[in-house]
Amino acid sequence: GLAAAAPDAGPGPAWQSKCPWGAPNTTSISCSLADVMSEQLAKELQLEEENAAFPEVVAVAEGPFITGENIDTSSDLMLAQMLQMEFDREYDAQLRREEKKINGDSKVSISFENYRKVHPYDSDSSEDEVDWQDTRHDPYRADKPTTTPRRGFIGKGKDITTKHDEVVCGRKNTARMENFAPEFQVGDGIGMDLKLSNQVFNALKQHAYSEERRSARLHEKKEHSTAEKAVDPKTRLLLYKMVNAGMLETITGCISTGKESVVFHAYGGNATEDKVIPPECAIKVFKTTLNEFKNRDKYIKDDYRFKDRFSKLNPRKIIRMWAEKEMHNLTRMQNAGIPCPEVVILKKHVLVMSFIGKDQIPAPKLKDVTLSSEDMTKAYYQTLNMMQQLYKECNLVHADLSEYNMLWHDGKVWLIDVSQSVEPTHPHGLEFLFRDCRNVAQFFQKGGVAEALNERELFNAVSGLNITADNEVDFQAEIEALEKMNEDHVQNHGKKLATFSSDGDPPIYDE
Ligand code: ADP
Ligand code: MN
Repeated sequence: GLAAAAPDAGPGPAWQSKCPWGAPNTTSISCSLADVMSEQLAKELQLEEENAAFPEVVAVAEGPFITGENIDTSSDLMLAQMLQMEFDREYDAQLRREEKKINGDSKVSISFENYRKVHPYDSDSSEDEVDWQDTRHDPYRADKPTTTPRRGFIGKGKDITTKHDEVVCGRKNTARMENFAPEFQVGDGIGMDLKLSNQVFNALKQHAYSEERRSARLHEKKEHSTAEKAVDPKTRLLLYKMVNAGMLETITGCISTGKESVVFHAYGGNATEDKVIPPECAIKVFKTTLNEFKNRDKYIKDDYRFKDRFSKLNPRKIIRMWAEKEMHNLTRMQNAGIPCPEVVILKKHVLVMSFIGKDQIPAPKLKDVTLSSEDMTKAYYQTLNMMQQLYKECNLVHADLSEYNMLWHDGKVWLIDVSQSVEPTHPHGLEFLFRDCRNVAQFFQKGGVAEALNERELFNAVSGLNITADNEVDFQAEIEALEKMNEDHVQNHGKKLATFSSDGDPPIYDE
């Protein structure tokens, strides 16, 4: 398997040193848990991420269970394919660069198409099933579709040729065969004056297309054959590395699939000298399908901590920033003593944290548990407390707080899902807070907690602001006015108002 997957020698030598089979990188990372909790160090860690924190030589098991023990040879093949795939992509990208360099903006260009590893039709696999008869997508259509004029004939008098002239048509068909995919061997039909009837040509064309689709499907299989369909090969590789490095013992399965993330359960691996891994972990994989994140732009674009970076980043990196943001926010909460998952490690768009729950069973969301009225009241006061801590000590607004993102575990409420959390001085920070307050107030009021403040009272209690409007519309207007005042102040003075002062985060490194 490995030998078969080895790359062919191609044009250009320079990038071949980047072959994934290069010498194993044995650099190991060592840091204490306390270090991991530090945002500063987390950034440094991320800087090092490309320098491979884990050994390169990996062996893994096939199937939904990813474990370090259960090694069989078939998984080597899978891994080889994954590496090959990554290599192929890099190779093609380099090829494209070389092609561009050679051609410049000259009118005649040389195509490296035939040297490519990944077939162009393969790159967008979702369009696999295009009907070959759909002429809009017919890749074999002659460059100049001038074969038959509308009248159905060309020429004059005796020399008229109709579209039914067999000889002319046959030669034309033979010529059109040259437009088949490059790997489809058509032989020298023109040289031997081959005349293909329409029927034969159409049959050949259909065959050529189905062959091509078959090859595209083979590529497709590489992408989706093994283990979890929820994650792409790159993510899988990341997870395997974590298991292989002994950091995780087993990845048992998926806890949740959302639009923006997939969460897995894993048993923690061996603690190293200075790093303790929780016995059970949750792995949050931020989805790299970009569409879903578009509507979340506003959370991050206006967050001054990320503002400077935002414009320079490509979508993939923006997704990594979501994971990074969740890590920072969790760390702040942890430092304030708010019950929440503990960050274990961040790797690109994959965040490993402690698991809230036991024996693979995640703690239920607040919306899914039935609490005694005593517990309900307890949960309410605890939530009020946490919202205040979050605001005052962490300088954060959750921004997606509701019974969906609060777990009930060990007789208390745990806050999760903080990738979208922002600082109160965020241009919409107070609006987000008000929305959080509405969710929380409604939930506990409906839950029968008589003491529960209404959303406006809760807002004032959390923020320490004293907005006096006695109806929702005026209240919201005042909130927006405050936000605007803050923004104007930022415009004029380049820093935030005292009431919304930040804790002066260290600047975030630029990749
Ligand atoms: P999303 O953005 O998809 O809502 P969440 O962070 O809310 O992402 O995670 C989705 C679900 O996964 C949660 O509702 C919860 O059930 C589960 N989950 C997430 N993190 C943990 C954790 N640390 N421990 C246990 N379960 C978790
Ligand atoms: Mn959630």
